[in-house]
Amino acid sequence: MGSSVWPKQGLSKEQVFAKLEEHRKDDLAWRSGRLFAYVYDGGPEIEEVAKKAFTAFMSENGLDPTAFPSLLRFENEIIAMAREHLHGGDEVVGAFTSGGTESIILAVKAARDFARATRGITTPEMVIPITAHAAFHKAAHYLGVKAITTAIDPVTYRADVAAMREAITPNTVLLVGSASGYAHGVVDPIEDIAALAQERGLLCHVDGCIGGFLLPYFARLGAKVPLFDFRVPGVTSMSMDFHKYALCPKGASCVLYRSDDVRRAQFFTCASWTGYTMINTTIQSSKSGGPLAAAWAVMNHVGDEGYLKIAAGLLEAKNQIVAAIRETPGLEVMGDPEMCLIAFRSEEAPPFPLADAMKARGWHVQPQLAYGPSRENLHLTINPSNVKHTAAFIEALRSATQEVKGTRSAYAEAETFARAFAEKLTGPDAFAMLPTLVASLGVGEGGKMPEKMADVNALMNAVPRDIQERLLAYFVSSMFTPAKREP
Ligand SMILES: *Cc1c(COP(=O)(O)O)cnc(C)c1O
Repeated sequence: MGSSVWPKQGLSKEQVFAKLEEHRKDDLAWRSGRLFAYVYDGGPEIEEVAKKAFTAFMSENGLDPTAFPSLLRFENEIIAMAREHLHGGDEVVGAFTSGGTESIILAVKAARDFARATRGITTPEMVIPITAHAAFHKAAHYLGVKAITTAIDPVTYRADVAAMREAITPNTVLLVGSASGYAHGVVDPIEDIAALAQERGLLCHVDGCIGGFLLPYFARLGAKVPLFDFRVPGVTSMSMDFHKYALCPKGASCVLYRSDDVRRAQFFTCASWTGYTMINTTIQSSKSGGPLAAAWAVMNHVGDEGYLKIAAGLLEAKNQIVAAIRETPGLEVMGDPEMCLIAFRSEEAPPFPLADAMKARGWHVQPQLAYGPSRENLHLTINPSNVKHTAAFIEALRSATQEVKGTRSAYAEAETFARAFAEKLTGPDAFAMLPTLVASLGVGEGGKMPEKMADVNALMNAVPRDIQERLLAYFVSSMFTPAKREP
């Protein structure tokens, strides 16, 4: 047991907390207001409310809704708030889930099982625009539902409804639209998608994971937001995350249904074993009451007017940043985002080196690879902590753009190399080359990334998508390896 990772004697509380703090030294500094991804930071007061409520209900178990009526009550109140927010009537029901992905998996499962029961469909398909979140592909992968992807408008990045119509077959169980999509922050033509679903007697899910909560506030503030919620006839389900723009800690989302019949197809009950009768409304069985109580607490603390005020700041920041990008020679906003999610790109200042140049200036922006008509770009998810740094961000972006324009030729070489390498990766033994490739790009053991990511991104952008997916699986495998005992 000499090399055991288990401490023989337990550490003191002080030692444990000191180590926890020490280990986060390389984490992204999300409280800096310079991170446009991952954390939806509502500031110290919201964080305090969330933390207290989370820890207060951390140990309560949502496994059995009769054991802790507090949790049932929180959920029913939150779902009522969500339904009202999305203009659903009394018939709308839902479930609190651990995140957008779970909400989407459940909506797809409900559609699959509802179609099996009512239409006898055994080889289900769903029609999703290529801008639909990867969670739909994950749902397809887990649930044995075939995802039929359809084109988007190459200028607006919105779903092409005519293409969706053509993709419908007798096995289609669900049509999907996003309000908004993640990549470009634009809202799909939900009224047209839902009308098509109604015409064909199909279910229609609107992914409001990121936009569902915030867009109604933007609309109230006078921004142009197309209808996307339960006011649209034909919308049969929606997903909306609380752990994004409702500023709740992670583990908080919901899925809503216009009809309880469809929601019942989501549930799982089991009495066919020797233990307790299991009734699971969602994927998890034992589940902490923490995320639910924290969401309840944050939403009740911030309140409608509080969110409206936060939304006003976000909308203003988004408008300023969009305008600044459009005014910067060479930079281009992709589409016309309704959400405070912005994808932008440039021919003269390629996005991946631009991300590195921003990082060198202390700003974290998210590279997005090319897919279909969506060229490689940089993505911003503006969160409340970014708002007061808008002017500084714009200044940094302008200077970084200038710098990258000047160093373009070096990056062009990296791109050429990436393309040449990618061509070699198409054969049957492509996979065998991956380890060498990963190492040659400066990716270290345990997935340690090089300081400058442009070359890695250029390569990822150039390789065929199926190889890229295998590469990612290989890469992630190398990261998640059991820790060795520290000397
Ligand atoms: C974030 C997001 C999801 C997935 O949500 P998770 O909470 O990360 O599981 C789904 N759809 C859209 C549009 C999103 O932005």
